[in-house]
Order: sequence, then structure tokens, then C-alpha cells
Amino acid sequence: MLSSTHHAAHHTAQLADVVIVGAGVSGLAAAHHLIAAGVTVTVLETADDPGGRMATGSADGFRLDRIGQLLNTSYTEPARTPGLEGLTLRPFAAGVLVHGVDGKQQRAGALTPARALASGSLDQARLSAALGRLAALPEERVLARPERPALTALRSRGLPPRTVNGVLRPLLSTLLRDPDLTTSSRVADLALRTFVRGRLAVPEGGAAALPRLLAESLPPGTVRTGVRVRSVATSLVTTEEHGDFRCRSVVLATGARAASELLPGLRVPRFHEVTVIHHATPAPLPWDGSLLLDADPKWPLAHTTVMSAVDPSRAPAGRSLVTTTVHGPPPPARTVASRLARLYDTSTRDWDLLAVHHTPEAVPAMPPPYDLRRPVRVLAGLYVCGDHRDSNTVQGALHSARRAATALLRDFGIPLPATPEPALPAVA
Ligand SMILES: Cc1cc2nc3c(=O)[nH]c(=O)nc-3n(C[C@H](O)[C@H](O)[C@H](O)COP(=O)(O)OP(=O)(O)OC[C@H]3O[C@@H](n4cnc5c(N)ncnc54)[C@H](O)[C@@H]3O)c2cc1C
Repeated sequence: MLSSTHHAAHHTAQLADVVIVGAGVSGLAAAHHLIAAGVTVTVLETADDPGGRMATGSADGFRLDRIGQLLNTSYTEPARTPGLEGLTLRPFAAGVLVHGVDGKQQRAGALTPARALASGSLDQARLSAALGRLAALPEERVLARPERPALTALRSRGLPPRTVNGVLRPLLSTLLRDPDLTTSSRVADLALRTFVRGRLAVPEGGAAALPRLLAESLPPGTVRTGVRVRSVATSLVTTEEHGDFRCRSVVLATGARAASELLPGLRVPRFHEVTVIHHATPAPLPWDGSLLLDADPKWPLAHTTVMSAVDPSRAPAGRSLVTTTVHGPPPPARTVASRLARLYDTSTRDWDLLAVHHTPEAVPAMPPPYDLRRPVRVLAGLYVCGDHRDSNTVQGALHSARRAATALLRDFGIPLPATPEPALPAVA
């Protein structure tokens, strides 16, 4: 990426119609929408690389996501974002596998009521039927339901406590990255609905593949990395060391905390905390590609998977990559290793701990009442996008970018380009 290094401190440059602050997926997507409409854009990013929270590191031939996002094959925004045509998703096995307090593992959430009945589990058949009804509901109907904390709503739906505690609670905690389920019940219902309508999936090659596709398909020089923005106004952006930029409009795409520092009118939300732990196994670990949830509240793990079974590009031949997520601070390494030994029913003594990534402010919380379409237009000339304006997911970040670009183009008086019908991304 181009980094501008030689501007004098008080030099004022006019580079483009629009300056976007932040090259996470929302800033990069907004750049694409605006450029597609004929507007010139510069994206200023403080880090050395674009991508924001969707970052992937590497060690010994392994690709290690910093944050281990779970996307869904039914996310519609990737297909509506120019630049993501080449995105390939690697899906998990259908549904999820849940490790219960009794030590038994069961598959849940795959829509196969007939099979569940045949296997003799009435609970599973009931759950499948309830999820099937939710999947069939139009989004407006879900959004018209009463809004409460997700846990309160979950307990009031007449499902047996063993289904609530043994399946739905760990599933929703994972989908929402919220172990206490304080999230709005409407957001939770939509997350469940998305889960049932598609398959959980990860970008092939690592989370960073998604912003990389976006960044590489922008005109060369659009993204300037290593540039920290200090203040914004509708027609002027000032930076720490790279001078000032005049423009016609500014889009803030920095994430919630930085956005509220640059625009003090924006409130700082609460955040959820996430730790992602990567282990390498000395020999391949056979695995069917399931996401395995730990439903035993005595242990700190939320979910784990043999990531290299889902996406083989993430590990060198002959070894497996096991990726585990905790909704909280990093637990002692011994605790994690001994729990993983139980979950995978194998010794973990020879596993190598490759990385522990702790993100205290991973995603903004979405307590009730939560507006999934929070305003993206502050005033004519100043817009804000990112996962704090929508749902706190990649889908939400991309959607907010499209909304912000649409509002900006309307203020410019530019007719909106027709949005392509969403074709879902390629699934390997
Ligand atoms: C641990 C974790 C787990 C997650 N799990 C999931 C999941 O399972 N499913 C899912 O869909 N999503 C998940 N997410 C959320 C998803 O990663 C985010 O919603 C999405 O990446 C947000 O993109 P963004 O563009 O809004 O913000 P960001 O990616 O945060 O981008 C903001 C950019 O702005 C830059 N910036 C900030 N301040 C300045 C400044 N002053 N000047 C210049 N640049 C600046 C930053 O460096 C950054 O690059 C997870 C996130 C985390 C952290």
C-alpha cells in the first residue's frame, strides 16, 4: 500500500472528493460504492495494513486469524459489495456440535426434524421445528416482536430448560459473542434466523482475505496506510504527521471508540471481550468440519474447531490447526489444554500453542432497545459507518457502508447506481 511520507505538517492537499477515515471492511466497502458512482476517494488508515479487525497473522506455515470470525453463507452484503466477487467461503458442517454437561456430543440446528425424530429425540425435533418457523419468518416480523434481553426472551418461549441451557444458550452466545445474552432479543432472533438459513463459514485463507480483496480491487493509491487522522470536519481532515486534506465530504469508518473520539457527539457503547487461541497438532486430527460448542458453564471455552479441516489452506501438510474461542480474558493455558483433551477425546500434551489473541473491545454490545439501522448521516458532508451502526458483524459493517455511501451520493445529487441482485458468495 502507498504511504504518504513527505507532506509538511501544515501542507493542505486536495486529493479526492471524499476522505474515508479507516480501512476496515466498512471503509473499504464505502470506497468501492462511491468509486462505482464516479466519486474520487482517498482512504486514510493509521495501521500499516488495511483490514482493521479482520486480520490474519502467520507462524510456521499456519494462518492465524486474530479474531476468528464466523461468517454465514446467507450473508447478503458480500455479494452487494463491488470487489468481493472473488470471495470464497469455506462452510462448517451443517448446524453445530454441542458438548453437554453430561459429556455427550449432539448435533443441533441442522434443519432435519425427520432425522431428529427418527433418532428418537423429541427435544431435537421440537427445536428443529422452532428454528424452522423462525427461518421462515420475514425480517419485519422478527423485528416486530417485543424486545427484551435475549436470555429473558429465551426462557419465556416454552422450550424445555435442557434445550435452552444445553443448546440455545451456547449457540446464541457464540453467534452474538455475548455469554450473558444481554443482547436485544430481536437481534438474537435475527442471528438465529441467519444461522438456520445458511451455514457458518470462514473466508478461505483467513479473515484478512476479505479486506484484502476489497483493498486490491481499489484504484492504486486509494488507500494510504500509516496515516493517523487527528480531527475531522465536513471539508477538512487533519492528520498527525501527514498534513491536512481538503475534501467535499468525510466518511468516518474507524470503529466505535475512535469514531466517538473524532466526533464527540457519538456515544461510546459497551463492548464484548473475546480471546482466540490457536494450537497446532503434531499429526493430522481427523475432523468432520463441525463447529463444536462447549455447553458446560464450568469451563471457560465457548467453541472450538479443527480450522484446517474447514479450510485446508490454513495449516501445512501433515498437521492440523485447532482454533478455540473464549468470551472473556485468556484462561490459564493448562485449563484450555485439559478441556480441549476432553472435547476432542485425545491427548493435547504434544500440541503447540501458536498464539493467544485477546481483544478487550472486540465488538460493540447491542442491548435493547437496539436500532439495527442507526443513522449514518451526521449532517450533509459528514457520515459514519461501521459495525456500531448496524449489527456488530461483517454483514452489518458492510451494510452500514452501503447505507452511508447511499446517503452521501444523495447529498451530492448523484443518481444511485443500480445494486446488483445479491448472488451469494462462492462456497468451496
Ligand atoms: C474477536 C472478534 C470476533 C468477531 N467475531 C465475529 C463473527 O463471528 N462474525 C462476524 O460477522 N463479525 C465478527 N466480528 C466483528 C467484525 O470483525 C467487525 O464487525 C468488522 O470487522 C468491523 O469492521 P469496521 O470496518 O466497522 O471496523 P474496523 O475493522 O475496526 O476498522 C476500523 C479501521 O479504522 C482505523 N482507524 C481507527 N482510528 C483511526 C484514525 N484516527 N485514523 C486513521 N485510521 C483509523 C483502524 O486502524 C481500523 O483499520 C468479530 C470481531 C472481533 C474483534
